[in-house]
Amino acid sequence: MLLDANAVEDGTVVEADVCVIGAGAAGITLALTLARAGVDVCVLESGGLQPDPATQALHAPENRLPGYPLQASRVHALGGSTFHWGGLCRPLDPDDFLQHAWVELSGWPISRADLDPWYVRALPILDIPRAWTLAETDRDLATHPRLMGSVNASFQPILWLESPPTRFAPKYRGDLETADRIRCLLHATVTEVVPNADGTIVERVEARTPGGRRLRCRARRYVLAGGGLGNAQLLLSSDSVVRGGLGNGHDLVGRCFMDHPNQFVGSMVAVAPAAGPSYQEEYMFARRTEGGLRGIWRGFFGFSTTPDVRAQHRLLACAVNLHPAGEPAVGDTAAIEELLAAGRPGRPARRFWLSVLAEQSPNPESRILLGEERDAFGRRKAVADLRLRPADVRSVEKSVRLFALETARLGHARVRIFDVERPSWHLLAGHHSGTTRMADDPRAGVTDRDGRVHGIANLWVAGSSLFPTGGFVNPTLTIVALTLRLANRLGTASTA
Ligand SMILES: Cc1cc2nc3c(=O)[nH]c(=O)nc-3n(C[C@H](O)[C@H](O)[C@H](O)COP(=O)(O)OP(=O)(O)OC[C@H]3O[C@@H](n4cnc5c(N)ncnc54)[C@H](O)[C@@H]3O)c2cc1C
Repeated sequence: MLLDANAVEDGTVVEADVCVIGAGAAGITLALTLARAGVDVCVLESGGLQPDPATQALHAPENRLPGYPLQASRVHALGGSTFHWGGLCRPLDPDDFLQHAWVELSGWPISRADLDPWYVRALPILDIPRAWTLAETDRDLATHPRLMGSVNASFQPILWLESPPTRFAPKYRGDLETADRIRCLLHATVTEVVPNADGTIVERVEARTPGGRRLRCRARRYVLAGGGLGNAQLLLSSDSVVRGGLGNGHDLVGRCFMDHPNQFVGSMVAVAPAAGPSYQEEYMFARRTEGGLRGIWRGFFGFSTTPDVRAQHRLLACAVNLHPAGEPAVGDTAAIEELLAAGRPGRPARRFWLSVLAEQSPNPESRILLGEERDAFGRRKAVADLRLRPADVRSVEKSVRLFALETARLGHARVRIFDVERPSWHLLAGHHSGTTRMADDPRAGVTDRDGRVHGIANLWVAGSSLFPTGGFVNPTLTIVALTLRLANRLGTASTA
């Protein structure tokens, strides 16, 4: 059932088994999965059916990083930011879950194998037909050799998957409306999660509507699914009983706020392989746009640094993506001549733009905190203080240089790197993560390996705020996989 909280009586108390706060990809996935398992769910969503300026303003944080396009990056309405996401998907790599000696605070409490079954179930929710492996996509390797990825290579080919992109509001609205076990209240902004006197059990949540209604939800279990900023803000501002906010006994809530550096870094010109007309990656990409490989990303193909190379150079994860740009430009002539002079068969030559998606290291000084300004409901507004470390930038620079060297070593392409030290490193992807990080030790993370807030028996978190590190990968497939895993835990517990 989908309801407008503005229309309920002032002072209404909704009772449920599970209360979900936020109806984006995480909240909707959780609510529908729990309802199918026979659990009564109340969803409280701040926005309405469409984004509106007042609700956007309610959640707009103060932004301390000049040029970081934070304001426009979140949508507060049914479906959350799937209103405008791009649909680029990929699971995190097994290496992303490991602890790396050169990355402080790295290491997840779970492994990729723990998430594998949930990644498989997450695919249809995002309308991704299947997860291809490289071996399955290989076609005619004799005439279409790999551009990169040969023995001892520092980069490996990666497959990006494509969601259409799934917009959760139109796609799942009908299911929410007809589910008997769901009451989804729109225009209900949760202003506080209120625990018992010693802060160990949540007793209720308080919500307000733009029309002046106050309501409350009492449930056995509560899940924050308010996005990477919203989850931290709500924990911090839930401080009427516990000073400093919930789950914040070790001053970790909001810290390690991460995004993904994401920008164009150069161009590349390549000549044809000796054996045939084009490289495997281009061939596959062309077949993809013809419809031959449904579920492979439409915009570009990519390569990532190998785990060995990351360890050798103490690098964070990084993918270099190649965007086919057609005919070479005039400025590419010298590079082409050089390649031809080196004995490459050559024509036709083609050009690519290079972009990166890269990892930001977890940094306690990079954080979401509460400012002094109050929103329309009297909550202290969030302040986003995202800080890239010099080492984060150096890691991307080094990765791009290694990519250029690798292409030079292979001899069939030349890379021209833009000036990577310009301030546009602050172009980030809008993937807010890390602010309620998972860790087995409460001194190292806000939540445990299931996403339960340490020290609080019935409060969980869903979304990318759980990620201890983010790899180079866009987060939504992992958000949905983790949420399905949580739904399984909560659903099983309720029917046991
Ligand atoms: C421009 C852009 C492009 C992107 N493209 C991609 C992509 O190609 N691939 C990818 O994987 N990811 C992409 N992302 C990221 C993706 O959009 C997010 O990872 C995903 O939408 C997060 O889902 P969520 O449910 O965790 O949070 P959100 O989508 O942020 O949803 C949270 C919901 O909770 C509600 N809420 C918050 N606080 C409260 C409160 N106190 N009370 C009640 N409700 C509350 C909000 O109104 C919102 O509707 C992109 C992001 C941006 C900005």
